[in-house]
Amino acid sequence: MSDKKVIFVAGGAGYIGSHMTRLLLEEGFKPIVFDNLSTGFREFVPKEARFVRGDLRRERDIENALERYRPSAVMHFAAALVVPESVSDPLKYYENNVAAAITLLRAMRRQKVKRIIFSSTAAVYGEPQRIPVREDNPACPVNPYGRSKLMIEAILKDTAYAYPEDFRYISLRYFNVAGAHPAGGIGQKGPQITHLIPNILRAAMGSKKLTVFGKDWPTPDGTCIRDYIHVVDLCQAHLLALKAFDRGVNNEIFNLGSSKGFSVKAMIRAVEQVTGKKVPHRYGPRRPGDPARLIASSKKAREILGWRPRYGLDEIIETAWQWENR
Ligand code: UDP
Repeated sequence: MSDKKVIFVAGGAGYIGSHMTRLLLEEGFKPIVFDNLSTGFREFVPKEARFVRGDLRRERDIENALERYRPSAVMHFAAALVVPESVSDPLKYYENNVAAAITLLRAMRRQKVKRIIFSSTAAVYGEPQRIPVREDNPACPVNPYGRSKLMIEAILKDTAYAYPEDFRYISLRYFNVAGAHPAGGIGQKGPQITHLIPNILRAAMGSKKLTVFGKDWPTPDGTCIRDYIHVVDLCQAHLLALKAFDRGVNNEIFNLGSSKGFSVKAMIRAVEQVTGKKVPHRYGPRRPGDPARLIASSKKAREILGWRPRYGLDEIIETAWQWENR
């Protein structure tokens, strides 16, 4: 028998996974963090959570952990997620993301774990036909990262079709996740930080000039537009998805974004305002694999999950700034 309160958090030592683990503990769940620490950090895992060091590509590692802890659901955050790297090293993405997901699903089947919440991405849309983009917009990813996540969604769908009694999923398509837990201690960290907000903040701190990738995009100011969402709001949606399973919400896809778009230039201005610092920057060429505009319609998550993001852009920047200044 599975234990309803036990949740298996694959990639729980990473940026988003560690926020999720904290939230699960706050809500009285028992998170089991499974992570190979390739990009995660042991110190991100609270001492109240169980930690299993293991690799998703080794079925034995996962099965042992599932067998031992009998979770009622899996949350799957473990993935390679850097768009430009996926363009230069696609096989890493198909192996780390697609192959690992298959191994995880096989282990879940064998251990009779029936529910998974999957971390998908707005990158599955590619260059959307309509903005704000809805879940039924055609998915035509423009980089291997997005393709790897879309392949996994297809695998989840086929698996749920094949085993309707024994396997159900909810896939959450994240837009641009940023910010950090207001209480501190966890945040975006790593030797190669490629994401915009940490890079702008580092430029504001004077450590490295920001390069804006392209100023000739088909947008009003020529820079790319993205939809930024606070990591704690994102994790709240996962808790709501867990509850939604109990109401019979199954095999669904939800966008998670703020439904507001900000260009790279607008983000620089916002950071300057919140931090009171100048952001030294220069313009470089477009970055391979980038779409021009991504803004979510989150209507479905609001209506079906009852999700309400609480943090605005200023709080995203403030909490990320606190983290960078730790
Ligand atoms: N970007 C940029 N300079 C940077 C990092 C990112 O101009 O140092 C741009 C990037 O081209 C994209 C947007 O900021 O248009 C968001 O990029 P990020 O890597 O944060 O997220 P993505 O949307 O690729 O997942």
